Amino acid sequence: MNNNENENHALPKTHPRYQSLKYRHKIIEGVKELVVAEAGLIAHGRGECFDYILGERTNIYAKKAINAAVAMLLLANKPVISVNGNTAALVPEELVKLSDAINAPLEINLFYQKKGRIDAIRKVLEDAGAKNILGIDKEKMTGLDNLESNRRFVDVVGIYQGDCIFVPLEDGDRTEALKKIGKKVIAIDLNPISRTAIWADITIVDNIVRALPEMVNLAHGLKETNKSQLKEIIDSFNNKKNIQDTLELIKDYIDTQKEDAFKILKT
Ligand code: ATP
Repeated sequence: MNNNENENHALPKTHPRYQSLKYRHKIIEGVKELVVAEAGLIAHGRGECFDYILGERTNIYAKKAINAAVAMLLLANKPVISVNGNTAALVPEELVKLSDAINAPLEINLFYQKKGRIDAIRKVLEDAGAKNILGIDKEKMTGLDNLESNRRFVDVVGIYQGDCIFVPLEDGDRTEALKKIGKKVIAIDLNPISRTAIWADITIVDNIVRALPEMVNLAHGLKETNKSQLKEIIDSFNNKKNIQDTLELIKDYIDTQKEDAFKILKT
């Protein structure tokens, strides 16, 4: 048993922050195994902070966005799921299940390309049952002209050709670059005002650990829905309005929390 497993065993399930700490450990373990970049720790922390002020639950606006996102993925001709280190560490099985349910390949796409990372992520995905993994063969990669970071390298049969790219945890630069070359972009980001959130066609403001399982269930539920009904779901969704509503929700949540906290402070 390694140290991390010891730490996990020491964490009682009744601990009020059990879920949050469980996923924190997954990220830490991911760093040790090269799956997660060191900067991924900080990105995760930023996510935790936003999750806290969203009440750590999938809210009604996230559900609306999930509905539209799954409809768009099912309607796409060539959907692709972009995978980075944090997503592979947190939700490998769900990524594979979603890939199967919507018939979309998983493409590894990294900002920090430390030696061995792609193999480490590939192993995590294969262990979770993935069969169709792109972004691993340098011969089949090409660079997007309008992007300078390492994330510009995309697989010629994956993101390069894809019409709808699902980017759970993305950086704003690439979301913008993908949009500018005509891709539909679906993002999951706990920060409703990140550049990713603002640039995406559909922004799911939720934690990937809750949103991905919801998407898998819904993908099975909507699979038999006809194309015009899927289109209706997408057309009735307004991303800007949904982000505005999410921001209002955060404001309301903070007000409620403030009142509760002040009651305790008074005593
Ligand atoms: P942008 O370039 O889009 O403005 P950023 O530079 O602020 O993004 P990054 O550091 O690239 O952000 O990535 C972290 C983002 O991912 C943050 O917006 C954070 O809220 C979000 N995030 C981190 N962990 C999760 C998670 N588990 N689920 C959903 N979102 C997450």
